[in-house]
Amino acid sequence: MIVPTKIYKAALDAGHGSSRGLAHTGCAANGLVEDDLALDFITRIGHHVRLAGHKTTITRTDSKLVSLVERGRIAIASGCDLFVSIHINAGPATANGVEAFVAQGDKRSQAIAQRLVGRVIRHGLRDRGVKWDSLSQYSRLKVLRDTCRYMPALILEIGFLTSLHDAALLKDKYWREAVSMDIAEGIIAPPPK
Ligand SMILES: [Zn+2]
Repeated sequence: MIVPTKIYKAALDAGHGSSRGLAHTGCAANGLVEDDLALDFITRIGHHVRLAGHKTTITRTDSKLVSLVERGRIAIASGCDLFVSIHINAGPATANGVEAFVAQGDKRSQAIAQRLVGRVIRHGLRDRGVKWDSLSQYSRLKVLRDTCRYMPALILEIGFLTSLHDAALLKDKYWREAVSMDIAEGIIAPPPK
């Protein structure tokens, strides 16, 4: 193992989870469930981050839902350097590709999000870019609201379950492994200037 010069601690967050009798709270289509795929990506990414000598804090390690506030609290309490939340998108059948969300005006997180999107598109997903989240009270991305004051924080939506093109890739565990390895390398690379 190569010992890195700076050890990063990445908060890795798998979106959604099962709650109150619901098997999943994320989206599902084409035989795929967002909650399970997100956890699969987080597990793989975490493995590669730790293999490179860095540290991880995983906000949920099983299928159970963790509240959005709690996810941020876990990352902040652990003193993480970066918060990455993984989701899989849903939309009309024609929508596809990878996109990321960061808090409105958060340039530091935007640069890292851009880098991660750039890595995922190497694997055949369309580039939808990095988008601002308004962080309003009712924002679906409120997980970013507290964490981004303490560390760069972003949500990465890896493809659309509802797209036949993206779903075929997402179903392939070798594809998920390759994407996860690339994302892990992007997470542990020095922060963009
Ligand atoms: Zn989601």
